[in-house]
Amino acid sequence: MSKVLKCRDVGLDCDYVVRAESEQEVMTKAAEHARNDHGIDEIPKEMLPQVKAAIHDE
Ligand SMILES: [Zn+2]
Repeated sequence: MSKVLKCRDVGLDCDYVVRAESEQEVMTKAAEHARNDHGIDEIPKEMLPQVKAAIHDE
């Protein structure tokens, strides 16, 4: 089972899906994606609970 985060579920108009083995890894990959594709240097602290809530098992 892996952890999945859909960028769209965080409120962005984007079809990117992050898949990883752990929540920590999802967050790392999501931060990279946010930086590379959305120009977000760092996910804002106030957005973290929303991002974590959007992570699902698959
Ligand atoms: Zn995205």
